[in-house]
Amino acid sequence: MKQTLVAPSALVNNQDLIEPAVIEIDSGVITKVRTHIPKKAENMIMLDDMLLLPGFTNAHAHLELTSLGVLTEHNFVPWMKELMHAKTMQTAADVVRSLEEGCQKLIKTGSTTNIDHISFDSPITAYRKLPCNVIGFGEVLGSIEPISRHIYDKLKDLQRASPIDFHLSLHTIHTVHETIINEFFQNEHPPFSIHLCEYAEEQEYFQNNSGPFYDFVVTRYPELNGLKRHQAPSAIQYLKQHNRVLNNSLIIHANYCDDHDIDILSTWKNICIVHCPGSFAFFDHAHFPFKQYREQNIKIALGTDGLVSNNELNYFSEIQLFLEMFPEIGLKELMPMITTNALETIGITNRGLIKEGYFADIIGLTCKKQQDICETLSQTKNVSFCMINGLSQQGL
Ligand SMILES: [Zn+2]
Repeated sequence: MKQTLVAPSALVNNQDLIEPAVIEIDSGVITKVRTHIPKKAENMIMLDDMLLLPGFTNAHAHLELTSLGVLTEHNFVPWMKELMHAKTMQTAADVVRSLEEGCQKLIKTGSTTNIDHISFDSPITAYRKLPCNVIGFGEVLGSIEPISRHIYDKLKDLQRASPIDFHLSLHTIHTVHETIINEFFQNEHPPFSIHLCEYAEEQEYFQNNSGPFYDFVVTRYPELNGLKRHQAPSAIQYLKQHNRVLNNSLIIHANYCDDHDIDILSTWKNICIVHCPGSFAFFDHAHFPFKQYREQNIKIALGTDGLVSNNELNYFSEIQLFLEMFPEIGLKELMPMITTNALETIGITNRGLIKEGYFADIIGLTCKKQQDICETLSQTKNVSFCMINGLSQQGL
């Protein structure tokens, strides 16, 4: 089907503001971008008072957890226990509802593509019906070998049955048994999406073999008590010691990285660090070393994380929190962080831009004439228009 969007302005190729904006679409793909408004065109959609932007890429989500809502604990280990308990009460129907509700919340707030972490027991066929683009990463985890192996095997089955792009990844290092970590890296290839150096208790676990996370593991699995596990000063240094290089991968959080960690990250090719500002604030983390990553030319992308560790699922809020924390960021630097950086890292180069040949994932934001785009992003909470793969979304 051919369609033409007409609006007062659009940001093309993440850098050129065109006024007016005429975007021609055929079979869900942008075929032409221009400024001349035709007198007649097939299926012309007039979007008055709107600025058109590419749909956002939410670089890190846990859609399956949406129905659990915002958890009450804000310290990592009690929060994790609360999450594990809440998950035992969640039915398969709840998970399907979670996926749908999560997608709807994110579509309304501009996220047309979500890079999602998926559990081994996910009702994977439910992903076929979701209205937004989802790229899945199945999470391998389990502190003891039989559990870790069972989860890894189940995820391989899900990968075969998956109706969406589905990759396998370690959830992180310290939650996976070392035998399975070794098998995983022998058998699997990037892209990966892995939580690394997320919280202070993780740092304590690696550096001192102590602290709330260490205590949690040995209480839960007494057979591990006394074992020195994952011996390294950090997850990133553990990977380096074992000659694991995570090229072409998403590194989730990376809040507690020291200079050694950042030196190692800077040697990995084509990585993108995913910062989740809402989750960062939820856990009241001390410091995100954004400036060091920037100095090393390491790409950054923004994600929401799951609703269980955020106050809401609203992609605009993530942008706004990030701009409050780093007001020096200009539009030129911000746009790839919210559209293309994460996608290009995992090899997707036909989404995230308003550009000929790209999928028609386009959002419309109501704005005043001549309003600065960063200012518009800072003041918006919901999209006024959203198209995904050429399909206009209803009920925004
Ligand atoms: Zn996560």
